[in-house]
Amino acid sequence: MTATLDVGRIREQFPILARRVHGRPLAYLDNAATTQKPRAVIEAVRRFYEERNANVHRGAYTLSAEATDAYEGARARVARFVGAADAREIVFTRGTTEAINLVAWTLGLTRLREGDEILVTGMEHHSNIVPWQLVAARTGARLAVAPITDAGDLDREAFRKQLSSRTRIVALAHVSNALGTINPVRELAAEAHEKGALVLVDGAQAVPHLPVDVRDLGCDLYAFSGHKVYGPTGIGALWARRELLEEMPPWQGGGDMILEVRFEGSTWNEVPWKFEAGTPNVAGAVGLAAALDWVAETGLPAIAAHEADLLAYATARLGEIEGLRIVGTAPRKAAVVSFVLDEVHPHDVATFLDADGIAVRAGHHCAQPVMDRYGVPATVRASFAAYNTREEVDALVASLRKVREVFAR
Ligand code: PLP
Repeated sequence: MTATLDVGRIREQFPILARRVHGRPLAYLDNAATTQKPRAVIEAVRRFYEERNANVHRGAYTLSAEATDAYEGARARVARFVGAADAREIVFTRGTTEAINLVAWTLGLTRLREGDEILVTGMEHHSNIVPWQLVAARTGARLAVAPITDAGDLDREAFRKQLSSRTRIVALAHVSNALGTINPVRELAAEAHEKGALVLVDGAQAVPHLPVDVRDLGCDLYAFSGHKVYGPTGIGALWARRELLEEMPPWQGGGDMILEVRFEGSTWNEVPWKFEAGTPNVAGAVGLAAALDWVAETGLPAIAAHEADLLAYATARLGEIEGLRIVGTAPRKAAVVSFVLDEVHPHDVATFLDADGIAVRAGHHCAQPVMDRYGVPATVRASFAAYNTREEVDALVASLRKVREVFAR
């Protein structure tokens, strides 16, 4: 049985949740954009700067050795969290966007040829579309798109049909940020592998909500961002199978990614450092490790169960509001509810809710093709995390009812 969360105790660990906005208690419902940080993360970053700050992999002195241990220890923590075979399979990046760009500009550039295809789904975030468009333009490869259904599921039949011997890379979201849909990655990866394609998973919206085991998923590459899983901004990770990382050429050049540099030519460091040019975000990595510790201690199954309850409650309560339409009703969803309200622009809705202290996202959520698919310019999106409550959902519903009254006049 899954342990239940003591949400009151969890909320106490997030200092920002005590804030008031426009005189109202803050109801932070924009967790798909970024999560708030528990004291454990804030303290870990503070302690790093107060006690161990130095550059890594360089100094012979104590502080530098300690900073290096902290940084490489964080890499091992990330590896354990996602079930990687080895810490050397983890490349630190600025986040999901940088991780996908890294793959596109290394593997994409070396493996793709004229007439090859990169297959994405119709629910991708722009960061899993645009890097592939850029690399397709450079290589002559083509971007193919597997469509999504009215409910927001991947059309499995169409996906299968799109896969062919020309498909070199399948790049897909584990969880859609705009719809909340959870994709059956294991099955999709197996189908892609049958055609010889590599599978890159955008895990930005999955890692905070689902236990992720990259080997169990059977994908080849997996990207995620620290700030969406209670960690700092500016840090994230790419996991890839070791032999792929060995095959991939370096991306950015600079310090730390080299073995030797001569004007005649240079040689590269081992993986993963080959992909980490320049001084890395050491404090960010330390904060990310603290965030993953926090999630593990709190218990991802308990967090997932709590969020599933909030999602079901919010879906039912929002469904009671006349003129409100939920966009994205797939049976397997993470804690995201996107919706539109008749005749009220999503930006107006979000501004109105802000006056009640409720933070939601309004816009295309960096997923314009999803908006086009459902014929809306934008949606309002409420997205939940471990610290959210049913009372916050009630506050959202009450405020939306006021929006309707005001705009119906
Ligand atoms: N992919 C998905 C599904 C996302 O939701 C996001 C952020 O919203 C990203 C990628 C990009 O993440 P980041 O901005 O942290 O690089």
